[in-house]
Amino acid sequence: MESLSPYNERSRLLSPLEAKARFEGVDDKLWRRLERIFPVRITRSWANRVRSVSGPLGRQVFPVAEELMADPFDVADPVGEEGRMPVPWVVQKHKDRALLLVTRRCHLHCRYCFRRDLDGDPEPSASELEKAVAYLKASGVREVILSGGDPLVLTTPRLASIIDALRPHIPLIRIHSRAPITFPERVDAEFVAMLASRGPLWLVVHCNHPDELSEEVSKGLALLVDGGIPLLNQSVLLKGVNDDVEVLTGLSDALLMRRVKPYYLHHPDAVPGGGAFRVTIEEGLALHDALRSRVSGLGLPTYVIDPPQGTGKIPVLQWASKTVTSAQ
Ligand code: SF4
Repeated sequence: MESLSPYNERSRLLSPLEAKARFEGVDDKLWRRLERIFPVRITRSWANRVRSVSGPLGRQVFPVAEELMADPFDVADPVGEEGRMPVPWVVQKHKDRALLLVTRRCHLHCRYCFRRDLDGDPEPSASELEKAVAYLKASGVREVILSGGDPLVLTTPRLASIIDALRPHIPLIRIHSRAPITFPERVDAEFVAMLASRGPLWLVVHCNHPDELSEEVSKGLALLVDGGIPLLNQSVLLKGVNDDVEVLTGLSDALLMRRVKPYYLHHPDAVPGGGAFRVTIEEGLALHDALRSRVSGLGLPTYVIDPPQGTGKIPVLQWASKTVTSAQ
């Protein structure tokens, strides 16, 4: 398989020593300890937007000691993927759609991520990918979501070849990527042209706080929208990051101004190590209600939970009332 990254990522990442020199309160010992568990990975682009280690952007990427502590609400398989992988690298919770995990790597590691377990191969082998694509084509699914890790870690030609292998059997393709936010250099004319020539195709980015939308990020998003790529955003509701109606309203407005539709607001997953980010269902519902009174229907994301039972995403209100109707 060809080299999977067009970038010398090392040179684009912050080292622990550099981080210590630039920001107050960096625990470089913890940083090194986590190397074996879920390494700290911060792009320079992101670091340039961080105002403090404990601020909304710092919190998402700098490790905290709670990551190593057990929490009674931890769940080993927090979104219920075990048993829902018909072939390696495919997750299928619904009849009509499935995830194809094209890599386990990301440009930046979000400390709340439910995919913290990086043991095993970072990408599917050529034969595994071939089997996964063959399964998807024969399965009758109408929509495939390229996910990971972050699919944009792959080169543009590599991504194009995966999309082409799925077509024409799979009419709808969605890509879930945080790279336009965490590593905006990745969005270039070649990438946009590749997507534009392969529609219908949707790109779902992942932004949690308006401060993430730097000028560089905004330029990349504009390049995508101008190139005809519809953009949606998913956020995770995170304690100390965006559990505040002013922040959520600002995020919704900032996304709409950049022609990105707020799509989902995820309740945080019960991932081991993610206890510091958790909010309760009641807090989340109250925040979402407050947000509803502040933004238009266009700016209101659906508040969803992806529970350990493996049902797929469910509106939190339904989840709270124990109704298990699957969300889109
Ligand atoms: S970019 Fe997505 S998959 Fe990667 S660490 Fe962040 S939340 Fe997890």
